[in-house]
Amino acid sequence: MKERTEGFSTEPLGSGPIGYPSRVAEHPAPGKTRARVLDGLQLAHRLREEARIEAEAVATRGFPLRLQVILVGENPASESYVAAKTKAAREAGCVAETIRLPSESPAEALLGEIARANEQEDVDGILVQLPLKTQQLTWRVFDALNPLKDVDGFHPENVGLLRQGRPRFVPCTPAGILALLDEHAIALAGRRAVVLGRSDIVGKPMAALLTARDATVTLCHSKTRDLPAICREAEILVVAIGRPGFVTADFVRPGAAVVDVGMNRVSSLDATPEHLRSSERIRVALAAKGRALVGDVDYEAVSQVAGWITPVPGGVGPLTVAMLLKNTVHAAKLRRGHP
Ligand code: NAP
Repeated sequence: MKERTEGFSTEPLGSGPIGYPSRVAEHPAPGKTRARVLDGLQLAHRLREEARIEAEAVATRGFPLRLQVILVGENPASESYVAAKTKAAREAGCVAETIRLPSESPAEALLGEIARANEQEDVDGILVQLPLKTQQLTWRVFDALNPLKDVDGFHPENVGLLRQGRPRFVPCTPAGILALLDEHAIALAGRRAVVLGRSDIVGKPMAALLTARDATVTLCHSKTRDLPAICREAEILVVAIGRPGFVTADFVRPGAAVVDVGMNRVSSLDATPEHLRSSERIRVALAAKGRALVGDVDYEAVSQVAGWITPVPGGVGPLTVAMLLKNTVHAAKLRRGHP
């Protein structure tokens, strides 16, 4: 891991936390230059190659690694995530199959498929693509997974281990975000971090991971008051709410590292929030493909204030896929007794 020396402008809030390295203010003054881009594609490429090599080493002891994906319904976003995940798994030398169930399937059909995959000796990892119809069903699915094959890290046992600071499987998206922050030597210990969104798959595990790395973490949600003011305290701001362009420049402390998890699909300029309509990238995507992927952060405005920012697409998304492969290799090692 690199030494963490790069940091933030602390101009608006005065001095940074006690113990800040003195060599921190290396990045350009806010407002003068755009934020540095936290490129997820490049890191994901490297992590996927690492996973491929590890998967090969584990597979030589027996069979190739196998990821069982279960997809319920025909949600186009879920379809595209599953396609990306299975393609990546195959490129890493794994067998990756998708069981498709119609949206009207009873819960028992889904739970039956999970039970079957739990039992199958050659299945290393199981992924049930979210979202499911109800929160109740989602919890039943989490409970039903074999915790040793739970490559998304959603089973209560794995959630508990993460909370205790001894993770077995870290949920893929927060794991990818941490890897990205580390890759850019962005210090966490002693820093103020704000996580916007408290879902089981992103916000809560992200807050737990940042806490375990000695950041001081505030977890915000739809009932949080004075949201922009709280976010402005953040030296690290992670946004996962599913609201296109919600976080504008006035949410952001100058110099902060801003991580945009949001993946919102817009299919016309009318459906795009007004303040994002001048975005060249969104206009080009809409003209070319009739749809655009938009983050939860107003990228154009926030990149004038932040020190670091993840793009959408090309930021967190590719890392989620890479971490799924890493977790699948980890699951195979655990069950196959590989060191
Ligand atoms: P989710 O389960 O829908 O949870 C959204 C969270 O945001 C909730 O905690 C909600 O608060 C909070 N929230 C919603 N509106 C808010 C507002 N106006 N102000 C403050 N908080 C608000 O979302 P998710 O599954 O975490 O996903 C969030 C986004 O990340 C989506 O765009 C999703 O597509 C994307 N995502 C991307 C990846 C990736 O790999 N890049 C992976 C997963 C998810 P309450 O709890 O109070 O309702």
